[in-house]
Amino acid sequence: MDLDRLWKNTQDELAIVLAPQVYKTFVSPTHLIALQDHTATIACPYSYIAQQNHQRYHSFFKNALDRQTKSQNTLHFVVQPPVKSLEDLAPAGPLFSSPPSIQPSSHLYPHFTFANFIVGNTNNFAYAASQGIISHPGTTYNPFFIWGGVGVGKTHLMQAVGHELLLKNPSLKLRYFPAETFGNELVNALKTKNISRFKEKYRSLDCILVDDVQFIAGKEYIQEEFFHTFNALHLSGRQIILTSDRRPSNIDNLDDRLASRFLGGLTVDIQPPDYETRLAIIHQITRRLQIDLDPEAANLIAQNVTTNVRDLQGQLQAIIVRSQTQKISPINTDFVRHFFHPPSYIPLLKSDKLTSRHIIATCAKFFNVKTGDLVGHSRKKELTLARHYTAYLLLTEINLPLKTVGLLLGNRDHTSIMHARDKIQQLLSTNPPCQQLIHQLKQLL
Ligand code: ADP
Ligand code: MG
Repeated sequence: MDLDRLWKNTQDELAIVLAPQVYKTFVSPTHLIALQDHTATIACPYSYIAQQNHQRYHSFFKNALDRQTKSQNTLHFVVQPPVKSLEDLAPAGPLFSSPPSIQPSSHLYPHFTFANFIVGNTNNFAYAASQGIISHPGTTYNPFFIWGGVGVGKTHLMQAVGHELLLKNPSLKLRYFPAETFGNELVNALKTKNISRFKEKYRSLDCILVDDVQFIAGKEYIQEEFFHTFNALHLSGRQIILTSDRRPSNIDNLDDRLASRFLGGLTVDIQPPDYETRLAIIHQITRRLQIDLDPEAANLIAQNVTTNVRDLQGQLQAIIVRSQTQKISPINTDFVRHFFHPPSYIPLLKSDKLTSRHIIATCAKFFNVKTGDLVGHSRKKELTLARHYTAYLLLTEINLPLKTVGLLLGNRDHTSIMHARDKIQQLLSTNPPCQQLIHQLKQLL
């Protein structure tokens, strides 16, 4: 029997005895590359997989292979990089294309595009469905409901669809908004007796992207108004895209009529990224930032951060910041191992990662804004100014590179950080209150 057939039979046997997730991650990407003198050499795409197979699943592999060959074998798991390159996981096009020109009124984030969205096993269905929406907006897949845990890419995917729809039809009146914004605006409209303007504003749109719709559950008046807005748009064939942290039937206190409307189109979920996707995302980020990361170190990061994409970005960002302040390049496995498991006998230095966090926290407190908002996407005036000061301090107090500061402050482009720095520098030379403010801030650090 040839090796491929033999291995296929062995894998089929393993598929029965191992949990599907284990099979998918650890068994399915392996190959039998040699079998000589009862010694089997099994190729694994990453060292983590080889290591886990050796330590945890060895006896499963051995039993299955022994049965197939009717003999006792010795197994060797070796690492052979995947044939498929990481780029193959991404949709066509360069990984980080410059963002398409966007309508400010759409409220889309410039970088939440498909070019920056890695497609893997846990989001490929949602990705494929979204392509259907782009080709036929307002038809079969209406509404399009995306659900999943925090930080898995719901907002990103929804906005990427928005970008594509606008590219296809630049005059489309499309608007992204969190369901909470809808609620707040409704409350304001009621207070100021502007309800008809409120209705007109939402009902005149061609496409709405409503984020975190679970927010409206249990809020009767908001649900009522949302129901009518939904119907008005849906009836006239406008595309509605919704996200939520759970499927419609599991949202507590959601009006039944809304739940059934939400289920009337296409519902998809996004699960936390699997190992391959995590690796591809790490690769994408380091490539964009031109960070030199050893492939084995990348494996180690993908292995350590399993929760969601946002956490992965956060941890990778912390690793990059720390490596830069310690002038480590390329980032290697030892460095990453120490990052996740600092040896207890070495006293932890007050690293610059902590300092950058401290600067951000101090500025947030000083300007009386939430840290999350300070490092977030909102362009509200009070946040923008606070962000400029924070950027200035990160650049001047701990000499972080522009790119790193951009990364820390909501994944902004280095040019916008440069602009913030120049602005504060200019104010410092002309404006005494600004000098005073910087002085006070520095004293707090
Ligand atoms: P959610 O809305 O599910 O909480 P987000 O869409 O805000 O999550 O995603 C969290 C972060 O992870 C964002 O910075 C986003 O760009 C990034 N992200 C999520 N999914 C992917 C992906 N498949 N490829 C690249 N980046 C992703
Ligand atoms: Mg979101």
